[in-house]
Amino acid sequence: QSADIGVTGLAVMGRNLARNFARHGHRVALHNRSTARTSALMAEFGHEGAFVPSETMAQFVASLARPRRIVIMVKAGEPTDAVIDELVPLLEEGDIVVDGGNAHFLDTRRREAALREHGLHFVGTGISGGEEGALEGPSIMPGGTAQAYRSLGPLLESIAAQVDGRPCCTHVGPDGAGHFVKMVHNGIEYADMQLIAEAYDLLRHGAGRQPAEIARTFRTWNEDRLNSYLIEITAEVLGHTDAATGRPFVDIVQDRAEQKGTGRWTVQTALELGVPVSGIAEAVFARSLSGSVTLREAARELPGPTETWLDSAAADRFAGDVEQALYASKIVAYAQGFNQIQAGSAEYGWQIAPGAMASIWRGGCIIRAKFLDRIEAAYQADAQLPTLLTDEYFRKALGEAQSAWRRVVSTAAQLGVPVPGFATALAYYDSLRAGRLPAALIQGQRDFFGAHTYRRIDRDGVFHTLWAGDRSEQER
Ligand code: NDP
Repeated sequence: QSADIGVTGLAVMGRNLARNFARHGHRVALHNRSTARTSALMAEFGHEGAFVPSETMAQFVASLARPRRIVIMVKAGEPTDAVIDELVPLLEEGDIVVDGGNAHFLDTRRREAALREHGLHFVGTGISGGEEGALEGPSIMPGGTAQAYRSLGPLLESIAAQVDGRPCCTHVGPDGAGHFVKMVHNGIEYADMQLIAEAYDLLRHGAGRQPAEIARTFRTWNEDRLNSYLIEITAEVLGHTDAATGRPFVDIVQDRAEQKGTGRWTVQTALELGVPVSGIAEAVFARSLSGSVTLREAARELPGPTETWLDSAAADRFAGDVEQALYASKIVAYAQGFNQIQAGSAEYGWQIAPGAMASIWRGGCIIRAKFLDRIEAAYQADAQLPTLLTDEYFRKALGEAQSAWRRVVSTAAQLGVPVPGFATALAYYDSLRAGRLPAALIQGQRDFFGAHTYRRIDRDGVFHTLWAGDRSEQER
């Protein structure tokens, strides 16, 4: 009997996806470059479902029902191209190749175009949720053609996380749309983690609370509107004690945040598209700064404020303010990310429905949160919403939070606690609100030194002032 779906690349992610397919009653063909991983999977988990292991790519392809559906789950980059090159000559028209790795969406566009020439469907698919998600139900973001999704969708939806009876998987849009959305998801994840880390830092170094106490605060927050996987795990990490030293775990870990690069891709792409994702950018920079050891070493003795702690009554009030500031900043970070999805969609003609992205992130992925229901509802109410900030629910939440948010940012500045995420979110909010921005002055400067011209508020046309001459105005 032929297999329904095949998985090639059986490291942690591929192995768990294959098991997830099998647990849902699908017959799964298995392949890995080195056969040891295939035999290990069979030995350990072969009893879990219907697996069809193969030693060679040719056997693997032959074991699949047509049109073949093959998931590649190998290291992103060259290994993915190597596997595609090996697969393509063995496939037939109409077969579907899925790349579930963390590919750059431009690589996905290139691969999709190349496989289309061979009459094959290439479905770049974002998969979030890590090792556990792959097994228990990830959030799945497939791109590619609608035709490919008709064949593949039911299988992917069956293994995805389910929230309120709906799968966390939908057809995102053509070619690289799925990987693009996964990239922005990761960027938002960076921003969300940074904001939570700043909230912790404020409670620790502003309010003078200990990690275990802060863990309790986060647990309380997790029961309300901030309810999310990231808040939940933050409480776990903060509540953990290092066995070797008896100290809070967070105090024995080196304070240098690492990154694999998807946050950087998000910011690079946002710069290309001209979308201000300042929350994601600050989060990426904050990680880079934390890792700049020499720089930090050199700057350690720079003067800071004399006032460094809040008194205890102020500290209690402050904790409430920090919750408000965190919620408001988080709304801004997500609003920016969703604008990037809309901009990418417009640039590449993907027609991505932003509300559907919020819906498939409600479960399985790292940024899963109660709050995504609100984002889905906002886009359901108005699919053309220019920014989430103006949706009725979010506008009200921001309005209620803004005083506390301002107090937190100014207190942080006074106490010398760095809050790049909170501060940039507030600046974005105030910039969007502003009736007039100092951009008018920047246009004047540009015209002064480079004759770059400007537009007037009262007349159409493009103008230049003769700054070095009699300062009369010319129409260009
Ligand atoms: P790795 O990224 O560690 O990749 C290991 C797999 O790639 C092995 O099966 C290996 O085969 C195969 N491989 C490497 N080079 C080649 C090559 N040249 N030709 C053929 N096969 C090759 O595995 P993960 O399971 O961690 O991740 C798989 C993909 O999923 C990656 O793209 C990753 O970015 C993405 N991803 C990972 C997540 C995670 O939490 N780990 C979450 C979401 C996505 P061999 O055994 O023969 O060495």
